[in-house]
Amino acid sequence: MKKRYILSPGPTSVPSEVLLAQAAPVMHHRTPQFAEIAKECFEGLKKVFLTESPVLIFASSGTGAMESAVVNLLSPGDKTIVIRSGKFGERWGELCEAYGVGFTPIDVEWGKAVKPADVAAALKKTPGAKAVFATHCETSTGVLHPVKELAAVTAGTDAVLVVDAVSSLGGVPLRTDEWGVDVVVTGSQKAIMLPPGLAFASISEKAKKLSESAKCPRYYFDWRPALKSYAKNDFAWTPAVNMMFGLRESLKMLLEEGMENVFARHARLATAVRAAVAALGLELFAEAPADVVTAVKVPEGIDGGALVKKLRDEQGITIAGGQGHVKGKIFRIATMGFADTYDVPVVIAGLEVVLSQLGYSFKVGSGVGAAVKTLAK
Ligand SMILES: *Cc1c(COP(=O)(O)O)cnc(C)c1O
Repeated sequence: MKKRYILSPGPTSVPSEVLLAQAAPVMHHRTPQFAEIAKECFEGLKKVFLTESPVLIFASSGTGAMESAVVNLLSPGDKTIVIRSGKFGERWGELCEAYGVGFTPIDVEWGKAVKPADVAAALKKTPGAKAVFATHCETSTGVLHPVKELAAVTAGTDAVLVVDAVSSLGGVPLRTDEWGVDVVVTGSQKAIMLPPGLAFASISEKAKKLSESAKCPRYYFDWRPALKSYAKNDFAWTPAVNMMFGLRESLKMLLEEGMENVFARHARLATAVRAAVAALGLELFAEAPADVVTAVKVPEGIDGGALVKKLRDEQGITIAGGQGHVKGKIFRIATMGFADTYDVPVVIAGLEVVLSQLGYSFKVGSGVGAAVKTLAK
């Protein structure tokens, strides 16, 4: 027997209450009973997204909601700005390319955060730009980008700000309405505490206007029929009924804890992970680390791939390695979603076991000690 822990930046661990809710008998979706559940989900999502705008639900992974933003906001030949600072920022560019939407890339070194002034300059140089595509937590590097400041840049322009918050929403504050973010997209399998399979997009009035005249081909992800049905607590197509049962439960758990407390919990856990990393003599990869995932540089002489694999296969703890050109060079510990105090000493203890087996020289227990000291504060 091996007890398994999942501290990867998606999928994440799911509470039993949510899993059990999803095991309920299937319900027909065109019934007043299901409309009640849909209504609860829509209302709860607004509170988690910190918005009064509609939040649509799609049966897809997070990338589906990203694609929905591109096809609903733009027409082939339109100009946009894409911030690329890792794997997921690159995805915005790939989606634009797939639909013939033009973009000016802002390439940021992996591990660094975008400078809002660079976005302002790119907008000036791209007259008529209709959208800025950004990433809140760039999961591939562990960086938290300054979305509030980016929203201040786009506020006075015709461009909408579209934010990929797949790994951050429900973990770190993203004050959609207060900051003025037009479209926020996320997926179910990260901080929202659900299995993979649902995606969400919040749509501001400014974004909705664009979606009425956009010419990109769209069908399943068309916001227009979705918004029409949304107004009646309904769906254009068959929703993922049982996942909605789970969503209702996870939203209830998040809102009972209170979003500010949820954010504080994430900050506390990530702070403890970072303290452990420092005590182990390891270095963070991100210059502005997000409180949902901690990216750590693999120390000189240690095989990063082996570290992640041994931790998973021998210790039962799943974290993530690096993606793209940082593969083997970093590892990523996620404390997002259904993560609490004692997940931290568990993952750090496992890391210490594997680091000692791989011949890294450090004082055994120093990481766990630093984590516990931080958590005890
Ligand atoms: C996980 C993730 C996605 C979406 O990936 P899917 O596999 O499509 O769910 C997008 N952006 C970021 C920042 C992510 O962390």
